[in-house]
Amino acid sequence: MKTNFATTRTRRSDLTSRHKTFGDFFCLVCRNFVSAEAALSGVHNRNHCPYCLSSRHLDLYEAGDRLSACKARMRPVALTLKKTSKKYNQPNQGEMMLIHICNECGQLSINRIAADDDIETVFEIFEGSRKLNAEMKALLTQADIAILEAGDNRLVRERLLGRSWN
Ligand SMILES: [Zn+2]
Ligand SMILES: [Zn+2]
Repeated sequence: MKTNFATTRTRRSDLTSRHKTFGDFFCLVCRNFVSAEAALSGVHNRNHCPYCLSSRHLDLYEAGDRLSACKARMRPVALTLKKTSKKYNQPNQGEMMLIHICNECGQLSINRIAADDDIETVFEIFEGSRKLNAEMKALLTQADIAILEAGDNRLVRERLLGRSWN
């Protein structure tokens, strides 16, 4: 996990007004300032922190609707591949995604990994997902989410290291 020193000089009052305009936020877990600008992250509707990858339960029906009343912390638990058309039946296709679970209500959510997300932290989540308890595994199975496992080590490394940084 890295600390972002670049933003420490920005005044909090500036950030508060930015929050209203852009959806920027301070991470509830690591306290870093997170910019929601799509130019930095490459994704819209940013929910998770690029440093510790924690998120908040903000959306109810679809990404970015911000209608959830829960607002609790969501922790990253594992990686998965986005489901693509089964037409060609090729293994290991689809964008690599991050799975979050809400600490409060147990809601699962699958999110795009942003361009500026910390690679080491993503890898730590992948490593940690091998030790998920039976309850967590059952939840994922119920939701029809297949997580990336030990055998996918090479795939995960390739996806993370081969990422473009533009
Ligand atoms: Zn954070
Ligand atoms: Zn929740």
